[in-house]
Amino acid sequence: MKISIIGGGIAGCSTAYYLTQEGHDVTLFERDSLASHASGFALGGIVPVIRGSRQAEYEVLSNYSISLHRDLATELANGVGVGSMNFERKASVKLVKDEAEAAAMLRVYDSYAGDFSFDVRWLGLGELSHIDARISGDVLGALYFGEAYQVDPYKLTLSLWQAAEQRGAQMVNREITEIAVSGGRVTGVVAGEQTFEADVVVAAAGPWSSQLLAGVGVDVPVSPLKGQILRLDAPGPPVKVSLWWDTDYATTKEDGLLWVGTTEEEVGFDDHTTEAARDRIVGSAVGMLPYLEDAELVQQTACLRPMTPDKMPVIDGEAGPEGLVITTGGGRQGIALGPVMGIATAALAVGAESPVDISGFSLARFS
Ligand SMILES: Cc1cc2nc3c(=O)[nH]c(=O)nc-3n(C[C@H](O)[C@H](O)[C@H](O)COP(=O)(O)OP(=O)(O)OC[C@H]3O[C@@H](n4cnc5c(N)ncnc54)[C@H](O)[C@@H]3O)c2cc1C
Repeated sequence: MKISIIGGGIAGCSTAYYLTQEGHDVTLFERDSLASHASGFALGGIVPVIRGSRQAEYEVLSNYSISLHRDLATELANGVGVGSMNFERKASVKLVKDEAEAAAMLRVYDSYAGDFSFDVRWLGLGELSHIDARISGDVLGALYFGEAYQVDPYKLTLSLWQAAEQRGAQMVNREITEIAVSGGRVTGVVAGEQTFEADVVVAAAGPWSSQLLAGVGVDVPVSPLKGQILRLDAPGPPVKVSLWWDTDYATTKEDGLLWVGTTEEEVGFDDHTTEAARDRIVGSAVGMLPYLEDAELVQQTACLRPMTPDKMPVIDGEAGPEGLVITTGGGRQGIALGPVMGIATAALAVGAESPVDISGFSLARFS
């Protein structure tokens, strides 16, 4: 069976990884270079869903994916891939700024009572200052998640691809303009004048998926949500945990820089950095970590998250022509969800059963 994958982000590369693990014939089409969009520029935080904050099926999916990340850290370090995607355990600390949020987070904390698998703790100001004394005195406390991780998303995506390539997958550096269909089933992908035959087509085109799939009459409500990150040269020692507050965060990455973010901008496919975003992110970060007044901006990046209306991914093998499989909509957790999207999509592509329940992620939920 010949399988074509459109898109060389984490969703496409992870699908290629799991398909080639089972010996399938895979060709991946990428118009730019691998991981040159969100999958290469994300923060790379792999943080468990805060219990009760998301749909139950999403929480299950996310937890399963985190277990796959742990497996990948070993699999990719043992002889395949680039060997290091800097997978590391890094506690995630959600800062709380007002009484109402503190009460809500304490309720969340109580819901983990007796469950030690996530290492969740409530930190008062004193304990918080042991983690980092530079956190603003305006913070009231924090919810600490010990079982959180961080990766270099670029290296992870590339490692997944390189492992797939070593097992025989091929890459074609072309833009797919059309999915070819005949008699109600896919027959291949079209790049300009050339058609590449395939029995199965996996659409893993990130925020561009809806444009691509409109061509075969499939309406996928995924749209780009721009996010910007600043990489700062900050004075003093690194921030050893991932700090989160509201929709923002700060953490020191493997390049030694403090990465702070982020924005959520609905501006179509514009992925340019802006001064307005820079000023907002700096203001928010200095509010939580006042010492950052003295930090220097080294780099500012922007990229587009594939976002659905309910913020859950689409993993579907039923919509549209036979032989079409859709995998997109990782949203703000697309790196964390990358492995599970890959393993489930690979299963759909070859008519096997997904190792985790994906019935909640079909396109039908939007109709
Ligand atoms: C600022 C920011 C921070 C983030 N931080 C995190 C984080 O900490 N943790 C986390 O889990 N997630 C994070 N994310 C989310 C994550 O980056 C995305 O959800 C994920 O990378 C999406 O992966 P993808 O493979 O679906 O899409 P993409 O990475 O966008 O890949 C899609 C690929 O398809 C290609 N393509 C599209 N159309 C075609 C075509 N017609 N022909 C050929 N190729 C095509 C594109 O060129 C692209 O390379 C962050 C995102 C942003 C923007």
